[in-house]
Amino acid sequence: MTNGEHMDIRANLEEVEQRIQAACARAGRDRGEVTLIAVSKTKPVELLMDAYSAGIRDFGENKVQELCGKMEALPADIRWHMIGHLQTNKVKYIAAKTALIHSVDSLRLAEEIERQAAKLDTVVPILIEVNAAQEASKFGAKKEEVSALVRAAAALPHIEVRGLMTVPPIAENPEDNRACFREIRQLSVDIAEENIDNVSMNILSYGMTGDYETAIEEGATMVRVGTGIFGARSYAR
Ligand SMILES: *Cc1c(COP(=O)(O)O)cnc(C)c1O
Repeated sequence: MTNGEHMDIRANLEEVEQRIQAACARAGRDRGEVTLIAVSKTKPVELLMDAYSAGIRDFGENKVQELCGKMEALPADIRWHMIGHLQTNKVKYIAAKTALIHSVDSLRLAEEIERQAAKLDTVVPILIEVNAAQEASKFGAKKEEVSALVRAAAALPHIEVRGLMTVPPIAENPEDNRACFREIRQLSVDIAEENIDNVSMNILSYGMTGDYETAIEEGATMVRVGTGIFGARSYAR
């Protein structure tokens, strides 16, 4: 029996939902402003189906092949979010299938999404991933480069820039990432004030199992929760 197969997904979701509601209440926000994305990477479709049955329609995956496989196996009304690093040679497999690509961190990647979206005659909504903590090991555009990247991506007719995303360091204490979330929100406000054509900054994607409540207090409109819903991940086969 593999790890997690007997997780009570419904009970986990109820707890996450209560915490989201409490965080919204503390921040004076409507629950409707925050989308819960169930991050299902490495988890079998049976568990995703449990979450689906409990009402979840937004799922996040970080690998193209896994996302495509699960998409085929699961109901068509699911909104799939690409949240992991995306290689340009894989864009063609998902460009028209994802509700939102969260992890655009270079103009080269944006241009490839543009190329594929143009071929399919569609418009692909994206977020710009910001490397908020300026860690060398992480993906994401540097803060000082974000505005220029947003501008360049927004000039591509088959891309729609909808906001910012970040993956801060794993938080031991959720407070550790509050300043980081605040900075990203401020960055989104600054960019929104530039009034760039074809750009909205309505989506802020941050907050994971360890810090999603803090993220909501600091303006997140999408939180990406994996472990808190599906249990710990095992990468062993
Ligand atoms: C895995 C992952 C998550 C979810 O992490 P948990 O700590 O399990 O909630 C969120 N965002 C990204 C980009 C991820 O890769």
